[in-house]
Formats: sequence, structure tokens, C-alpha cells
Amino acid sequence: MTAIRISGGAVHDPANDLDGEVRDVCLNDGKVVADVGPDARRIDARGMVVMAGGVDIHAHIAGPKVNAARKLSPEDRRGDPLDRTEVRRSGTGGLVPSTFATGYRYSLLGYTTVVEAAAPPLAARHVLAELRDTPMIDKAFLILMGNNQVLFELIRRSGGAVSAELCDAVAWWLDATGGYGVKLVNPGGVERYKQDNGNVHSLDDDVAGWGVTPRQVLEAIGGTVDDLGLPHPVHVHANNLGVPGNADTTLDTMRALSGRQAHFAHLQFHAYGGRPGRGAGGINSRAPDVLEYLADHPEITADVGQVMFGPAVAMTADASVSAVLRDLGADKWINHDTEVETGCGIVPYRYRAGNYVHALQWGIGLELFLLGRDPWQVMLSTDHPNGGSFLSYPKLIRLLMDRAFREDQVGRANQRAIRRTALLDGLDREYTLNEIAIITRAAPARRLGLRDKGHLGIGADADVTIYHDRADREEMFATPRYVIKGGEVAVEEGELRRSEDGLLLSSRAGFDPEVSRVLEPLFGERYTVAFEHYPVRDPALREPARIVEAVAR
Ligand SMILES: [Zn+2]
Repeated sequence: MTAIRISGGAVHDPANDLDGEVRDVCLNDGKVVADVGPDARRIDARGMVVMAGGVDIHAHIAGPKVNAARKLSPEDRRGDPLDRTEVRRSGTGGLVPSTFATGYRYSLLGYTTVVEAAAPPLAARHVLAELRDTPMIDKAFLILMGNNQVLFELIRRSGGAVSAELCDAVAWWLDATGGYGVKLVNPGGVERYKQDNGNVHSLDDDVAGWGVTPRQVLEAIGGTVDDLGLPHPVHVHANNLGVPGNADTTLDTMRALSGRQAHFAHLQFHAYGGRPGRGAGGINSRAPDVLEYLADHPEITADVGQVMFGPAVAMTADASVSAVLRDLGADKWINHDTEVETGCGIVPYRYRAGNYVHALQWGIGLELFLLGRDPWQVMLSTDHPNGGSFLSYPKLIRLLMDRAFREDQVGRANQRAIRRTALLDGLDREYTLNEIAIITRAAPARRLGLRDKGHLGIGADADVTIYHDRADREEMFATPRYVIKGGEVAVEEGELRRSEDGLLLSSRAGFDPEVSRVLEPLFGERYTVAFEHYPVRDPALREPARIVEAVAR
């Protein structure tokens, strides 16, 4: 490996209290080091901004739902082909790019680590196969556990408490799949949808036929993840996504996990006032209430799930949400993943600035960013591709950093909606470069428990992005000058210089192998796959990998 000295750039490394200090960053053997010899390659970064590589804590890039979305909208990709070159394979782009294109485009954007946020455990082989084919970036995936019939049975037995059986079962599932963390999506509600197209509406509804409630699922699985000490806490997509008045459910969910570490996904979709059942026209913003709770509860973090005006693809394990979107006049809809431990719906969608609900959603996302006090707690995401493509991150960054640009955009959105947000209250906040570094790399890496990522201290992974310091922040963040991955220059001047596999990041917690005596009979009753064939053992699917060990609390 080449040693590299990045010389004279302004280093924005908030995890190490560096706020634009001009200093050299040295890389060797894939790590940040104190110094390198005179033979090292020298990158002249004078006048440029140096940050750790971007870390996306919540996106959808691999697995059966992503592939179903590709199949659903060939027209979205037909006009965006990537030709094969000496460095890269061919592929297609659009809102849901092919695997190789996903890796290339994240890398060209300066991202070096991405988390696939919702993987059905039974489809882990598919997720792993696609992640293996996603080059340039390190990647991890979260295992869906909020609507798992075997876990429901263990939760029913424990009465919703954390039990030794549950700890062993959750750790077994991570080991069996190669997953990194645990995701709950509409706990209990997806199972209800699959049973009778119903849903749960509060934390205390019965999950039909299973003798558990969403609250018990949250407390049992969230508590188990916390007790196991997994590097990333439970990752929650709360009940009632998109429903008017759902901020009450979101706050109930946060209180149910009270004192436990937890990360809340796409908080924008869960911060609505209004009355359930009264239609989307009565929806309003409860972002300030949700932020007030966060301010008193540092154990809770979130990503925003910002909506960007333009095309999107609703792609969610929360199948009932996609059925609602279908009824709002969607051209296409797939209900997918019904015979795995979750559900899934996909609806191609478009967010329109003139639409009251869409403009309100856009405004609520911006409120979460601009009214939140602690950027370490509220991270950047569009829930790609749900609120918009990851390629829209640079524009979102400009909305946060450039007040004049933001006010122009606010003026183009539905004003009845905007008046119901704080965006006309003279919000003059402009994110600094260090705050952008926090919400796009330092905070996600810290929350994921990736100690070697998201910063540039000695021993960190040599994942570095170097930007021209341009006044137009959208252009700046869309076209990094250099992207260095694992100590090698991957991108220069918007061109890929090399292609390589990234690592699969998995986590591991110890478990008693005797748990198979508990699980095997439950599998026998519910699965068509034999218990012994369920775990993914093929090394080709699971390597190259880095395992992050749990540290039990
Ligand atoms: Zn998501």
C-alpha cells in the first residue's frame, strides 16, 4: 500500500475537536498514522477541506425489496446507463441503481461506509450477494426483528421482559445472517397487515393471535440489544409512520425505551400532529415536541429522512404504509417479502413543492435539522430512496448551510404548509462545515459503534474525502476532489481511479449454542426451511469482513 501525506488542507474532524485547522493528515497501511516518510505520495490540499469519508447510517441498497424496486421501474434506469470502462463495470443508475453503480456513485460522492437498514433475515443470502457486488464502500446491514413469529413466541413467554432465551436468540440470528444490528419496523403492525390487511395503532394493541403488543416487542428486543451491548443500539422505525398525529406514538415509543440506547429512523415521517383518520390535509408539525424530548434524552438519536422535491421510491418493510400510498393514486405498487419475517411494499413516488403534505414533510425535516440543538443527535438521511436519492445529499447540505438558498426554496413551496412550520420565523441558522461533518460522518460512525470510522485520529481507517472549498456547497459536496478508501485513492476529479471490494461489517455477541434446542422446534412449526440450512455459512458471501464484538453491559 502507498503511504500518503495530505498536505495543508483545512481539517474538519469534530470527533477530535479539529474545526478547520490547517494540518497534514498521514495515511499508511490503510490507517491514519502520525507521520510518513519522504517517499510518501503527497496530495496538495491547500485551500481544500479535509474530512473523514462519509458514513450513511440509513439507506436501502441491497436485498429483495431493492431488487424488486429495480424490476418495478425499468424506465427510471433506462435513461441512465453506466458504460463499462477499464476501472468499472457497466450498470444502470436512476433512483435505485444496480449494485455496482450504487458503490461507484456513493464513492464519487465521498461516502465510504453505508448501512442497508432493513434486511429480512431469511433473505440474508440475497442481501449478502448484492452487498458483495457493491464495490468501493464498506457496508453493514440491519436485521428485521419486529415481526418475527419465533421471537413473538419468546417475547410472549417472557411477558415482554428481556430473557436469557431472547438474548441468545438475537445473538444467534446475527451470527446466522452476518447482520450488524437489529431493526424494528412497525413492530407487530406488519404481522397484522399480513394476517388481515389490518395494522396496530397504539403500543398496546394486540398483535392478532400472538399474545404480544408492540410495547412488549419494543421493550423486549430493544432491551435485549442494549443488554447484549451490540455496537449499534436498536434501530427503530416506529408504529404509525406517516399517520396524522403520529408524534404521540413516537413519543410513547421513546418513553417505552426510556433509559435504553435507541436510534430512531427517518424521524421526519414520525413527527406529525393532526388527528388520525381525519385525512392528510389536517396534518401539521410536531417537530418541536419531538426535539424537546431528544434534548432531555441523550440516549436517543435519530436520522431525519428528509424529503426532497422530485422523484423518489417508497420502499419499506412497513407494507401497510405502501398500501396507503397506492390508494393515493400510485401508478405501480408491489407488495413483497410476505413469506419472510417481515413485509415490504414499493411505490414509485414524486414529492411536489406545491403539494400541501409534501411541502409540510419537507419543512418538518428542515425543522428537525435547524431547531435541533445537538447535531450529534440528529443525523443526515433521506431514507434513500424513500425521501429521495442519496445523490440529493449535496443539495440538502446546501439547504442547511446557505440561508439565502434555503429561503428561496422555502418561497417556492406550498405556503399554507410552510406557515405551519417554523421556517418563516427568521430561522437564520446555517450549518458550519464541522456540523456537516458531524451529521454526515462523525455522529453516524459513533452511533454505529464504528470506532475506526467517521474521524481522522491516529488509528482511524484511512477513509478520507477532500473537497474544494466552494461557495456553492451543493457543487462542493457533489464533486469531491479526492476520495481515499482504505488508504488508496479511489476517486480524483470526479473519476473513479480503481475498483475494489469494501468490507462487510458484522457484529457478534456470545450466545449459548443450546439455544438451538429452543429455536429448532419453533422453526419446525413456522418455516419451510430446515433449521440446519438457515444460517449462511458460505464464506464467499461473508468475506472480506470485519467483526465488531459486542461489549455486554
Ligand atoms: Zn428506511
